Amino acid sequence: MDDSLGLKFLCSLEFALLKRLKPLAYELYGQVPPFYNKLFPLDPDGLPCRTPWEHSSMLEYFLLDSEEFFEHKPKTGDKVSSGIWLEPNPATNDELPLVAKAVQLKGDQLITIQVIQEEYAERVRILRKARLELVERRKISNALNSFKKKALFDAMTKLYNRGSFMEILQEQVDKFGAYTPTTALFIIDVDNFKKVNDTLGHLVGDSVLVQVAELLRTSLRKNDYPARFGGDEFTVVAPDTNTEQSHKLAEKLRHRIQAHKFNTGDIPVTISVGYTIYRAGETIENFIRRADKALYDAKQMGRNVVCFRDPWLIDDEEVNAGLT
Ligand code: GH3
Ligand code: MG
Repeated sequence: MDDSLGLKFLCSLEFALLKRLKPLAYELYGQVPPFYNKLFPLDPDGLPCRTPWEHSSMLEYFLLDSEEFFEHKPKTGDKVSSGIWLEPNPATNDELPLVAKAVQLKGDQLITIQVIQEEYAERVRILRKARLELVERRKISNALNSFKKKALFDAMTKLYNRGSFMEILQEQVDKFGAYTPTTALFIIDVDNFKKVNDTLGHLVGDSVLVQVAELLRTSLRKNDYPARFGGDEFTVVAPDTNTEQSHKLAEKLRHRIQAHKFNTGDIPVTISVGYTIYRAGETIENFIRRADKALYDAKQMGRNVVCFRDPWLIDDEEVNAGLT
């Protein structure tokens, strides 16, 4: 079969054949099948459309691939296929299942476009629906994750917020609380923070809080949990940390803040730290209350200090409140 016979044969199978003349220039070969003129408007000279990709986004993508393919000097028989897609039919509001191929046929570089059977179209529709559902589900799950993040973290410092911290603390004591006392809790408060706000303004105050948060985060181990408890108060729960280790950690945090250069001019930024160890069986509210008392002690001692409260020294307040 000579070349033109081969092309005529393809035409008789209801292929639309576009012959490539040079980069991005094609002519239609032979009779176009009826579907072609239905989908793509006639050219201004009244002849069938020579640039169908200007009317079909799938063909537009495909043309880019085809041009690349032809430029790479393909051998006879080489081809690229666009897969199957559904092309909207502007006249009837329905869609036709099409497949396109770029083929090297001896001296000819061709793009063929063909309607395929309706049963394939049904499969494409099902796949498209499944894909759309997947995209929709992904969108919902991304939105959910972003809501969850917002609900878990403090917007300004990006640390855990009070609500999520309470849950983490409960989880930690549930997991490790029954063993020897090794879950440490720290409450950290910026000293005389009101002075920063009053003298330098709230924006500088905010930036100090962000920097304190960052210093805390970068001073801790991976499985320690820092949180913004509210205002200028931060908390940390550190699993597997005994009294001596928690003292070292509290001092490390205090030193790092003291040594950091904040943008507060002559106003120093320091923290006071209250810390304690979990006592098996107690509520997390009591655990926090004791760390808070230790923080109160630190403030009483003049600030920029760390104070410890012994979990085994049960005070009257605890007994009376039934918090133990
Ligand atoms: P102390 O040493 O006793 O802690 O003194 P202080 O001045 O730090 O007193 P306190 O901790 O009670 O004050 C906290 C201040 O933090 C009060 C509030 O105006 C300010 N604050 C709370 N949240 C924010 C915030 O998000 N940004 C800024 N800039 N300030 C805040
Ligand atoms: Mg303070």
